[in-house]
Amino acid sequence: MPTQLPCCRLSDGELLNDYFRPVRIICIGRNYADHAKEMGHDPAREAPFFFFKPITALARDGAFVLPSYSQEVHHELELLVAVDQGGRNLTEQQARQCVAGFGIGLDMTCRDIQRQAKEAGRPWELAKGFDGSAPCSPIAQGTINDLARLGTMTLRKNGAIVQQGHWRDMIWSVPELLQRISRYVALQPGDLIFTGTPAGVGPVVAGDLLEATMEGFPKSLRLQITKDSI
Ligand code: MN
Repeated sequence: MPTQLPCCRLSDGELLNDYFRPVRIICIGRNYADHAKEMGHDPAREAPFFFFKPITALARDGAFVLPSYSQEVHHELELLVAVDQGGRNLTEQQARQCVAGFGIGLDMTCRDIQRQAKEAGRPWELAKGFDGSAPCSPIAQGTINDLARLGTMTLRKNGAIVQQGHWRDMIWSVPELLQRISRYVALQPGDLIFTGTPAGVGPVVAGDLLEATMEGFPKSLRLQITKDSI
């Protein structure tokens, strides 16, 4: 299981022999109004909420193996934020300084298992935290100010656009999210933040090819969906 993500530069793309080593994956639920609505929630009245994926969920480009226990695996396209400083109860200004880079990732979700867990009042882990459930692009190094250089992120399934979103449409901004997280747990170097998904989540089946890109971002994320490990 890979435990590090190669780094590149936002400007020219390449940065050799450098890696971001995630120690923890922290995800935000419902951070785009259009997705909250498609899931049947009112986006105006919710504080951000968080969940974790185990580090064994981390994966790179390549093959994605469908979990055998789910019949409905969805893609969720998300902006990633890499963190290289930490602390508890950060101010928004301190939170801004914790940003080390950005990426694009997919919060792969067993929607049927998640629905059953919600209905039973049980945890989500098997819906969100299975092996390989967090495929990620390389990390492009940058500060919070470099976020302005990034634009619309797009997910294509078999060549057709299925999700598009822009970080400016987040309900909670990147610094606000980091600040909020630090109220609950100490933010720390190696935290990798999944910042929520825009509308258009949907199912994948064996044989599908997913490709995630983002304006201003030098790398893409390509994922071949398969039933069996190869
Ligand atoms: Mn998500």
